[in-house]
Amino acid sequence: MRISELKLHPIAVADGPLRSSYGLHAPYALRTIVEIKTTDGITGISETYGGDGPLAALEAVRSRVVGMDPFQLASFWQYLAAESEKEKADTAGGRSQTWLVPGENPLDKHTRTNAAIEVACLDAIGKALGRPVCDLVGGKVRDRVPFSAYLFYKHAGGGGMGADARDDEYGEILTPEAVVRSCRQMINQYGFKEIKLKGGVLPPDDEIAAIKALRAEFGPTFPLRIDPNCAWSVDTSVRVGRELKSELADGGYLEDPCAGMDGMAEVRRRLLAEGNKTPLASNVATTCFAHVPEAKRTDGVQIILSDPHYWGGIRSQQKLSDLCEVLGLGMSMHSNNHLGVSLMTMAHAAAVCPSLTYACDTHYPWQTEMDEVVVGGRIKFENGSVVISDKPGLGVTLDYDQVARGTERYNKLPYRKRDDEAEMQQHIDPTWKRVLPRW
Ligand SMILES: [Mg+2]
Repeated sequence: MRISELKLHPIAVADGPLRSSYGLHAPYALRTIVEIKTTDGITGISETYGGDGPLAALEAVRSRVVGMDPFQLASFWQYLAAESEKEKADTAGGRSQTWLVPGENPLDKHTRTNAAIEVACLDAIGKALGRPVCDLVGGKVRDRVPFSAYLFYKHAGGGGMGADARDDEYGEILTPEAVVRSCRQMINQYGFKEIKLKGGVLPPDDEIAAIKALRAEFGPTFPLRIDPNCAWSVDTSVRVGRELKSELADGGYLEDPCAGMDGMAEVRRRLLAEGNKTPLASNVATTCFAHVPEAKRTDGVQIILSDPHYWGGIRSQQKLSDLCEVLGLGMSMHSNNHLGVSLMTMAHAAAVCPSLTYACDTHYPWQTEMDEVVVGGRIKFENGSVVISDKPGLGVTLDYDQVARGTERYNKLPYRKRDDEAEMQQHIDPTWKRVLPRW
C-alpha cells in the first residue's frame, strides 16, 4: 500500500465571540481537513489547524508523502525532525505558546505536520484492516473517553456572519450567573462530569466568584479547573490559588496561571508552603517533550495537557503518557476549535494513554451541526464521554458536500490566520493589547 494522493481542504467553521487572554475569537475558526488516498483505494483523513501557515507546512511535505508507505511513520518523522533541525535558525527566536495561539507557533510546525499525516495514515491503515485506530497502537485502555464542560466568557452572538450567522445558543456570558447557566445548559446536553472555565478575561475577583458559583451549583463531585492563559502575575496566581483552594481540590487544577516555568514553579512553591496542594497544569509552559524535564525539575507543572495535534500525533501521546507515568506527572488534554475528525482523533489518542486520567478539553459544544464535516452529523456524547467503537480507522468519514461548504466559507474570508488580538481591536476595544501579566 502506497499513498497515491494528498488532498488538503481548507475550511472555515463558524465560531462565537469567545474570550480569552489572547483576545477574541473571530466569527470563523480556520481548520484544514487532510485526506490521503492509497493505491488500494483507501481514504485516510485527519483534521488540523487552518490558514496559510499550517497549509504551507503540509504543502511542503507533499512530495515526501505521495508515494510513501503509510506504515512507515517513524521514518517520516525522522525526515521532519531533520527539516526541523535545518530550520532551527528560523525558529530559535520564535516566541512560545505564551504569546502565540496553538497552530501559529513556529516551534510546533513539524510536530503539527507530523500529526496531520500520521493520523491520516493510521485512519487509512485502520480502514484497510477493518480495525479502529486505537487497535493499531496497542489497543484502548478505556472504552469511553470523558470530556469536560469547557466554559468561556463570551459576547452575544453565535458565530458566522451575515446570512451565515449561527444561532446564539449560549447568549452573552460575562457574569457568574451566566457562567453557571451556560454550564447547566452544556451539562444537560452532553452530560459532562468535569468543568473548566477559560479565565484571564475579567478581573480575578470576578473569575473567583464564577468558580465559587459553579461549586455552589454543582457541588464537589464536579471537579473544577480554571485557565487564565498566563494573564496573572505570580502574586495574583498565588492569591487566586489560595482563594480557590477548596474549589480546585477534588480532582481540579489551576492551569497556566502565569507565564513561564520559573513563574509556575514559584507559584507552586508558595502554595505548597501554605499547605495548598492544588496541582498546576499547563499547555503553555510545556508544549513539547523538550519542556518536560524542566517541568519535573522545577516542579512548575504537575499535569501536562497533551494534544495530538501539536505534540506530534497519537503515538506521541502514548510516549507522553509513558513519560508522565515514569515521572509521576498527571496528564490531561488541550483543545482548540475543532470538528468531528479532530474529536475522534482526540478520543482515540486519550483511549490509548493510561496516564490520561482527567477529562479532556473540547470546544465541540461551541460548534454547530451546520459546520460538521463527518457523515451522519455531529458526534454524540454519552454521559459526557465519546464511546470508542470498533468502527475502522477513526470511525468517521467525510461528508464532501459539507467539506465543500466549509471551503466556500474559507474562500470568502479576508483572513488566513488566527489573530485574537486583532479581532478584539476590531469588535470590542480598538486600544486593546495583550498584556502579560494583566493582573
Ligand atoms: Mg490551556
